[in-house]
Amino acid sequence: MTADTMPVDDVVGNALVPISGLLRLLLPTSAVGFAIKGLDGRYRLANPTIEELLCRPGEHLAGRSEDELVPPPTCSLLAECDRQILAGETSASAWVELGHSGQRRHCAWLKMAILAPDRTLQAIASLVEPAIPQQASAAIQETLRRLQDANRDLQQMVVELEQVASTDRLTGAWNRRRIEEGVQSEMERMVRYGHPLCLLLIDVDHFKPINDQHGHAVGDAVLQRLVALLQAALRKVDSLGRWGGEEFLVLCPNTARATAAAAAERLRQEVADAHFATVGRVSVSIGVAECAAGESWQEWFARADAALYRAKNGGRNQVQVAPEVACHANGKDYVAADFVQLVWRSAYECGNEIVDHGHRQLFADANRLLSAILADQPADEIGTIVDRLLSDVVAHFREEEAVFTAAGFPAAGEHVLLHQALTAEAHRLLDHYRGGTRAAGDVFQFLAYEVVTKHLLGADRLFFDFLRPPATAMNPGSEVGPLASPDARR
Ligand code: GH3
Ligand code: MG
Ligand code: MG
Repeated sequence: MTADTMPVDDVVGNALVPISGLLRLLLPTSAVGFAIKGLDGRYRLANPTIEELLCRPGEHLAGRSEDELVPPPTCSLLAECDRQILAGETSASAWVELGHSGQRRHCAWLKMAILAPDRTLQAIASLVEPAIPQQASAAIQETLRRLQDANRDLQQMVVELEQVASTDRLTGAWNRRRIEEGVQSEMERMVRYGHPLCLLLIDVDHFKPINDQHGHAVGDAVLQRLVALLQAALRKVDSLGRWGGEEFLVLCPNTARATAAAAAERLRQEVADAHFATVGRVSVSIGVAECAAGESWQEWFARADAALYRAKNGGRNQVQVAPEVACHANGKDYVAADFVQLVWRSAYECGNEIVDHGHRQLFADANRLLSAILADQPADEIGTIVDRLLSDVVAHFREEEAVFTAAGFPAAGEHVLLHQALTAEAHRLLDHYRGGTRAAGDVFQFLAYEVVTKHLLGADRLFFDFLRPPATAMNPGSEVGPLASPDARR
């Protein structure tokens, strides 16, 4: 299977559109004239009451504009209402004379903005009520309330239609179309901000026998329960989609390989521990891949799929992680960047999001400083980067101390002392830099060597094992072994 060849999900559902206040206003029995016109000035919808006031017998309002329907003085009063709404008012009103040949009536005409969910003007609604002025205001208030209900219903309808179009009908997970949109935007973010991005491919083990033994409806219920379990176990930022059949996909933004592997292992365990009605136990196999720089969606997906294949072949009910990809062959930029950047590798991760995020941040800060130095940027700009860097170092140390202390790292006290010594040294160096006795290059050197190489990649590794649950221990950089043993029940 490849990302290109999977069948596209059937996304057209029987959307349950709410019966709206809008429909009530459109009924022929409505005492109030009601119509909606588009921003092109032409009417789209109208009830018989307003048509009776504006059109000749047998004519309709749809497709027509006000200047075709009312005399110029009335038209300019109505145009003034439109102008107010276009300027941002939610409603505007005028008293007008309407009707034909001897049957003219004094009417209150209220116009109201119909807003899209993003609050932009979508159309203009009109409520028209023949009345004497003293009586009209209460009736108009009531009608205004009804129109507000109708507007809410319209907006709800837009939201529900959008949801139907982007979710799988059986499970409520994202459908393929929505996943592909998500993939595209997350890959763009990855390129722009350098955040890591991971993909989990999840396939139910031996699902066909479940259908064969218990019937398709039970199979459906298993898929629904599975999605509920996965949704509950995922972070809010992760997106779960149904890729097809009994195969699901999770997109994990801002997540590197080790963290995604740990999350996948957690999901696998949750499913294996759960009881499914009628069938009892169900397991899943999961393939994990981190998107590599310069990689296409197809290449990335294929690596996750290959990892999933290994998980199936290895006995199912397990997680397999795709090996890290070396810098992409067609990426000349990456090759060049290797010489002038501290390159972050998955092997540097411990799997704890806070610690890994802090470390990646310091790499990014150090690289920013290096670029600024290489580009010979003005001293004040470099000074800003250096200040930011110091505050990030201090903030990271504080967060990391909380993490390893909570994890029961026995050498926590000593490690805190290392942080204090590094912080003091950084402050001293910065004072010299500001006083002009040390160069920006010295600050970078200190950072690259003392903080990153010696500390983050050296001393910090001592507490990594205390943060990592045993099941997620990884053998970085090479083919990674199964994270859980094959299910003995099968
Ligand atoms: P493996 O462990 O190798 O993944 O084995 P499997 O039996 O899970 O895989 P296989 O691909 O052979 O079978 C998948 C089955 O899933 C076949 C198909 O009929 C069933 N299926 C696909 N979509 C649905 C669905 O929406 N509802 C139900 N009940 N079954 C489905
Ligand atoms: Mg399958
Ligand atoms: Mg399967």
